Amino acid sequence: MVCVTDVMNDEIETKRALCFACSGLAGVEATVKDGRVVKLSGEPDHFMNKGWLCDRSRAFMEHLYHPDRLNYPLKRAGRRGENKWERISWDQALDEIAKKLKEIKADYGAEALASVCGTGRGHQQIIKERFMNLFGSPNSANAGQWCAIYNYMLEAAIYGGATRGKSGLGVGKCLVLWGKEPAESQACTFRNLLELKRAGTKFIVIDPKLSLSVDKLADVWLQIRPGTDAALALGWLNVIIAEELYDKEFVDKWCYGFDQLKERVKEYPPEKVAEITWIPEEKIVEAARLYATSKPASIQWGVKGGDMEGVNASSMMHAKCILRAITGNLDVPGGDIIQGPCEKANYGPIFECLDMIPPKQRAKQLGADKYRAWTWPGYEIIYEAGKRYWYGKGCFGGYAPACDFPSLWRAIITGKPYPVKALICGGHNPLLANANTHIVYKALKSPNLELTVVLEQWMTPSAMLADYVFPVANWLEKPVVSMHTSQGMGNYVSIGEKVVEPLYDRKPDHYFYRELGLRLGQEKYWCDTLEDEFTWLLEPLLDELGYDSAMEFARKERWWHPPFVEKRYEKINPKTGKQWGFATPTGKAEVYSTWFEQLGYDPLPHYEEPPETPVSNPELAKEYPLILMTGMRFRAMHHSEHRQISSLRRLQPYPTTRIHPDTARELGIKDGDWVFIETVRGRIKQKASLYAGINPKVVEIQHGWWFPEKKAEDPSLFGVFESNANVLTEDDEKHRDAPSGAVAFVPYLCKVYPANE
Ligand code: SF4
Repeated sequence: MVCVTDVMNDEIETKRALCFACSGLAGVEATVKDGRVVKLSGEPDHFMNKGWLCDRSRAFMEHLYHPDRLNYPLKRAGRRGENKWERISWDQALDEIAKKLKEIKADYGAEALASVCGTGRGHQQIIKERFMNLFGSPNSANAGQWCAIYNYMLEAAIYGGATRGKSGLGVGKCLVLWGKEPAESQACTFRNLLELKRAGTKFIVIDPKLSLSVDKLADVWLQIRPGTDAALALGWLNVIIAEELYDKEFVDKWCYGFDQLKERVKEYPPEKVAEITWIPEEKIVEAARLYATSKPASIQWGVKGGDMEGVNASSMMHAKCILRAITGNLDVPGGDIIQGPCEKANYGPIFECLDMIPPKQRAKQLGADKYRAWTWPGYEIIYEAGKRYWYGKGCFGGYAPACDFPSLWRAIITGKPYPVKALICGGHNPLLANANTHIVYKALKSPNLELTVVLEQWMTPSAMLADYVFPVANWLEKPVVSMHTSQGMGNYVSIGEKVVEPLYDRKPDHYFYRELGLRLGQEKYWCDTLEDEFTWLLEPLLDELGYDSAMEFARKERWWHPPFVEKRYEKINPKTGKQWGFATPTGKAEVYSTWFEQLGYDPLPHYEEPPETPVSNPELAKEYPLILMTGMRFRAMHHSEHRQISSLRRLQPYPTTRIHPDTARELGIKDGDWVFIETVRGRIKQKASLYAGINPKVVEIQHGWWFPEKKAEDPSLFGVFESNANVLTEDDEKHRDAPSGAVAFVPYLCKVYPANE
C-alpha cells in the first residue's frame, strides 16, 4: 500500500487527507487546482471506506470556503454575549492572554485555569493537555467522561487495554451492537458491517427503536427499555453462567473473582430482567445463548448502551467487559482484540508532559474527591499497571485523567472549593454538548470568570460568551494524525496530509497553545510546527520505516498497525520469562475489579433503577408519562456541528422528535407538527416525526440543535435554548454514575404536546 502525492501538472494535484467529519477517519482524496480544493472523494484503497465518502465528509469543501467561517482573531468589545467584537492580531491577543494568565496564576494558583474539550478528534486534546500540564493545572475536562474514553479506562482496569479496533472486525461469527447505531453515527463502519453480514456474521442489536442497523443487520433485536442495559447484561451473565456456556478453561486460569461474580448474577434471573427491560424472557435467553455459543464473537464499542446512562454507566461497561472475558473472546481474531498504547510513538504521557504536573496539583483536580475513577486517583492505578506491561508507556493519552465537568461549572459559579478564573474552550460547544444547559450558561456568564478563550471554526452559542475567539483550521487546512482506534489505546497510527494552507488568518490550534506556552516559559517543550510535532510523535516508527518526517510517511504509507499477536496473555514475555497475562494489578482479567475495590466502589456490576423513570418516580410519571431519550446520532450532522452547511441542512433542516403514531394520535399530534417536549427542568420545541418503530411510551429527541441563522446576541445565542436537548437533562449527583460522574442523557420523564404558539 503506497500512496503518493501525484502532481499531475503544475496546477492540479491530489492530496490524501483523513476525514475528521466524525471519528471514523476515512481516507480522502482531495483534488486541488490552482490552490483551491475542487473535489473530495474516497480513497479507493483505504481500509476504512474503500473509496466511499458520506455526505458529511463531502460537504467539507463547503465548510472550507463557507462565508461564515471565522477568519480572524476577535476580542470582545461590548458586554459578554452582546456580539460586539474587534479584530485583533494573533500576537496582541496572545500577549494579553498570557499577561492575564500570569496574574491569575499568581493570585489564585495554576488550578484557577480550566480547559474544556469535546470529541477532540485527533491531536487537539493532547496538545492542549501539554499546555495545561506545563501550566500546572489539573483541570482539563472533556466529553470522554460520558463517551468512549471512560469506557476505555474501565476496560483497561478490567483486562488491561481497550478492545475497540479494526482487528476486532473481520471473521466473527456473532457481532453485538449494543448502544451503537453506525448507520447514523459512522456510515463507513456501517458499510463494513454490511459486508460482514453478507459473509455470514450473525448480529444481535440492542436498541430501544427499530433503527437502520436493526433493519439491515439484526438476526436478533432486543428492544430494550431505555436506561436498563446494565440489567440486560447481568441477565445474559446469569444465563451464560447458569447454563455453563462460558469458557471454563479461560475462566479457571485467567479470570479473577469468578465465584463472587457467580453469586452476584444470581440476583438477575431472566424473568426478573424481562420485567426490568421490557424484553421478553425467551428473547433474553436466546440472545445470551447465541452470543455465548458463537465463537468467535465480539461486542462492539457503543456509548448509548451504558456510558450515557448515568447511574448505571460503570456497571454496564463492566458487565460488557465480563461478557467478553468469560466467553473466551478476548484477543482472538474476530473477537475483541485488546490494544494498548502505540508502541511506535511518543504518544500519551510523554507527549503531554503529564509527569510535569506536581502531585500537590493533581490532588486539587475538581471532582477527584468524589468521582475517583475518571480522575487522577483511578488513572494512577491503571497507569502503573499498564506501565509494567505496555512497553513502559502506561495506557492512556489525551483524555484522562480529566476533571469532572459538573464540578467545574459549580466551581466557576460558587468559587468552591476554590476559584476558577479562566477558561480555554477548544473544539467544544458546552452549551449544546453538556447536560444541564442552564448551569453551563450560568458558568459562562459568571462575573467570576475573568477570561474566556474559545478556539473555533465558527461563531457558536458558546463562543458568543467568550472574551477572545481564535479562528482555527479544519482538517483540510492542517495535517492530522491519530492513534485512533482507541484514542491513544490503539496500537495504530493513521495520518493525513494538509490539503491547502489555512485560509485568511486561520491557524492550527497547535499554534495557539505553542505561542501561549512560549509566552509563559514553556519554550523547552514545543516543536516549531504541527508537522514537527508529528515527526517527534512518530519518531520510533519513522526511524524503523526509514522516513525523515511524518509528512513523508503521510504521503507514502498512510497507516501502520503491528502484526496481531493472538492470545498474547498466554505467550511468554521475554523480559520476565513468564506468561504476559493481563495488564492489571492481579495479572488476570478482573471480573471482580480490584480497581473499583481500591477506589471504594462496588467491585461487581449491579443494576440500579435510574432516578427518573415510571418505576422509580411514579408520582412524577403522572404528569410526565413518557420516557425521554436523547444523545442518539443522526446521519447528516455530528453532534452540534454542521448546522451552517446548506447541503447538510437540506438533509436535516430542523430538529426532529420521534414518537409512536398511537401516542401522537392520543396527544393530537400530526407528522411534521412542531411540538413541545417538556421535563421538570424546562421545555424545548422540535418537529414530530411519527415512527412506528419506537415503543409508544418512549420518545427520542435529537441533540445538538442551534440555529446559525437566528439572532446571535445573548439571550438568544442562535436560539440555543429553543430546541437544545440539554435544556431537559440534569447533571446533579442523583443522575450520575458514582465512580465516573458520567451524566445521563437517557432516561428522563417528559411530556409532549402540540406547540400551538
Ligand atoms: S462516516 Fe462519513 S464523516 Fe465519518 S469517517 Fe466516514 S466519510 Fe468521514
